[in-house]
Amino acid sequence: MTQDDEGWPGQSWYEATAAGPWKGKGPLSGDHVHDIVVIGAGLAGISTATSLLERGVSSVCVLEAGMPGTGASGRNGGFVFAGYSLANDGLIKRVGADEASTLHGWTRESVGLVRKRIDEHGIDCQFNAAGVVLADWFGDDERLQKFAGRMHDALGFRLDFLDREGLGQLVVSSRYGCGLHEPGSFHFNPLMHIQGLTRCLHEAGLSIHEHSPVRRIERGPGGWIVHCEGGRVKAGEVVLATGGYDRTLQASVQRALQPVATYIAVTEPLGSRLGRLLPQPVAVYDTRFAFDYYRPLPDTRLLWGGRISIADRRPAAIRNLLARDLRKVFPDLAGVRLEQAWGGWMSYARHEMPLLGRTPDGLWYALAFGGHGMATTTLAGELVAEALTGHGARLDHFQRWQPAWAGGWLGRAAVQSRYWWLQGLDYWRERRRRARH
Ligand SMILES: Cc1cc2nc3c(=O)[nH]c(=O)nc-3n(C[C@H](O)[C@H](O)[C@H](O)COP(=O)(O)OP(=O)(O)OC[C@H]3O[C@@H](n4cnc5c(N)ncnc54)[C@H](O)[C@@H]3O)c2cc1C
Repeated sequence: MTQDDEGWPGQSWYEATAAGPWKGKGPLSGDHVHDIVVIGAGLAGISTATSLLERGVSSVCVLEAGMPGTGASGRNGGFVFAGYSLANDGLIKRVGADEASTLHGWTRESVGLVRKRIDEHGIDCQFNAAGVVLADWFGDDERLQKFAGRMHDALGFRLDFLDREGLGQLVVSSRYGCGLHEPGSFHFNPLMHIQGLTRCLHEAGLSIHEHSPVRRIERGPGGWIVHCEGGRVKAGEVVLATGGYDRTLQASVQRALQPVATYIAVTEPLGSRLGRLLPQPVAVYDTRFAFDYYRPLPDTRLLWGGRISIADRRPAAIRNLLARDLRKVFPDLAGVRLEQAWGGWMSYARHEMPLLGRTPDGLWYALAFGGHGMATTTLAGELVAEALTGHGARLDHFQRWQPAWAGGWLGRAAVQSRYWWLQGLDYWRERRRRARH
């Protein structure tokens, strides 16, 4: 499954409102030589190139099948927060509190690094510092308070508890009880962000080739030859950062990927109604496994996301699904038009942690960030760049998360069944809550 220029059917609001198409070097043609080739200009690839440049490595070529940000990185919810797709409690259980605290701490630093680069390069990406809030769907204040305490004690991760009144000052919906606010988190326009970073790389002289799908990677004497339709690049090192959009270039790693879709829709402008529902411009998700995620946009629209599935649904189907979810939380918005609807592929490994490392024949990879990709791809760029410049100690922490076969179609069916099962559990917990009140 390779991303073509069309991307996912359904233009995102980000694309529809972008200033204009970014222009890099265009499709690769002819023969080239670089120290390093990065395949994929999602945030994993662009962050790797940025971290390399920050370490003085500029002989870097980025090859992208579509445009930078065509994949998940330019069409996501825009939440920038700490943590991995593997839940924090799961991480602690798997590796113990000390290691979990180290790994989680790196994602918090990465949230800061995303922000620092935005400031340093003056990237205009509708940055919103109001932050990210986790709203409790099940009315279990004690449970959420205990969770915040556990995260603080085990990971050194601060989450500010919001009682019902406190949450009500940020989000006006009878669906929720209490909530947690993550200091330092923020939300932004992910397409403007990645285009801004890409522009900086281009201006610094890196070779960014859009519309250049890589067809084949070949191990040659003293390095690699990377083949596109119209040209080739010889390089000492290659970094594979193709997200959930390719599973053919290096099967030994990519067979560990499960591409999983999630969906977003954007309302018509809501005017003053938006401020009555979200008095503060926070980004919100909730405590269900199958949670909604939403945030206000600068022109008073609401961006609404949710669901995961193995299906690449059409915009009309996405609208229907998400309109139902939206009505549940904000009944006053019944009948509001959803103007754009789209989806995107995330990639997951079975263990739900990123795949970061190097194959036995020397190909670097940075894949499988799941639904927590903005900070973790930025971290991946740092770790891979460190290793490429001779400091691999931090990357070694990811050795334990190896690319194990994801089970092909059977694995994807298992993912879908697990989602439905957990969605069923959400439903029963919700019924219990209603019975209690
Ligand atoms: C709808 C949606 C909402 C999300 N919301 C959030 C959120 O709010 N916060 C958050 O942290 N994370 C979110 N995520 C997850 C996050 O977007 C991803 O984890 C992250 O963007 C992955 O980045 P990546 O660079 O690995 O992959 P991608 O961004 O998918 O980039 C991979 C790139 O590789 C290119 N490519 C593939 N094959 C080839 C080839 N053969 N040759 C050249 N190029 C190739 C693709 O065209 C693509 O541009 C969301 C994801 C989706 C889909």
